[in-house]
Amino acid sequence: MLLSGWGVLTPDATVSRGWVQIRGQRITGVGAGTPARPAEGEEHLVLTGCTVVPGFIDLHVHGGGASFVQGAPAAVPRARTFHRRGGTTRSPASLVSTPVDALVDALASLAEDGVVEGIHLEDPFLAPGRCGAHDPRSLRPPERALLERLLDAGRGQVRMVTLAPELPGAIDRVRRLVDVGVIAAIGHSDADDARAQTAIDAGATVATHLFNAMRPLQHRGPGIAGAALEREEVACALIVDGHHLADATARLAFAAAPRRRALVTAAVAAAGTAEGRSRLGPVEVEVAPGAPSEGTPTIAGSTVTSAAALRHAVRARLPLAQASAAASTLPATLLNRASGLGTIAVDTLADLVVLDADLEVEVVFVAGERVAPPAARVAR
Ligand SMILES: [Zn+2]
Repeated sequence: MLLSGWGVLTPDATVSRGWVQIRGQRITGVGAGTPARPAEGEEHLVLTGCTVVPGFIDLHVHGGGASFVQGAPAAVPRARTFHRRGGTTRSPASLVSTPVDALVDALASLAEDGVVEGIHLEDPFLAPGRCGAHDPRSLRPPERALLERLLDAGRGQVRMVTLAPELPGAIDRVRRLVDVGVIAAIGHSDADDARAQTAIDAGATVATHLFNAMRPLQHRGPGIAGAALEREEVACALIVDGHHLADATARLAFAAAPRRRALVTAAVAAAGTAEGRSRLGPVEVEVAPGAPSEGTPTIAGSTVTSAAALRHAVRARLPLAQASAAASTLPATLLNRASGLGTIAVDTLADLVVLDADLEVEVVFVAGERVAPPAARVAR
């Protein structure tokens, strides 16, 4: 298949006119200008005014229409369908607070299913005072045995664990995660700068939804947010949905952490459902336009897709190339440096999103297969 007639965006440049060739699962050609004639029998999609970007990789998503904590059969098909329409081609499943036995069941179900790109445990090792909408009754200290139980239940599929580094034993658990190849993320935390720096020294490489549910950055107390922005080895995950962060804060984070910011949605089950009551694990939340809450100023995840977050980032005056890299290139690098995902380059898997002039999703490809919208709706 040949896609041509619109801009092709690579993480370092925008091509005003360009083309991408897909054969099987992979990208077999990329170029500027007008493509060579399609081969005999090769499908040629020509759309004007559109931009092709790498498929979005959402490092932090709890579900959509259903919550991953409900287990794979209940959640994965619905959430995947919803988020693919929003351009997310890969994502680990993020799990919210729930009693440990239920968490173990969810881990086992998702690991068995094998269809998600790993699992992000966002709990239960969070600071009670910074747990946001997570159920405080489900929180646990990061004890060695519990971490091992959860990792075992995930059977190698746990790719990232968020923990509050000030909890007893947390720094040792960060080291353990790094030793077994799991990303240690810090967040939902009241850690001060010194503790955050210690966690980063121990190997933590992601800040979970920077600024949200963590000690605020202050001029004499940079805290966990300041440490994450300052340290080159830390990727800053940001919920740029117009609710979790002021636009100026998002711009500040982009400026302070070039090439190490990730756009995440933290979308919950309420994403893809009508406004009203929904659930975040065992907690009932109110879904208002834009962001669910518990009826308090605490925001309980988001209802956005990756494409909506990208659109908001661009509305917040962040360059499309930077927002695109944050939505796909950096997350791909974090999850698997060798995958080649997250860029539009020859020989990489053809995970692509075609955005129209308003940055609405036009077409989505996963490994060369057109997954959204249904093929009949695509103009040839
Ligand atoms: Zn969270």
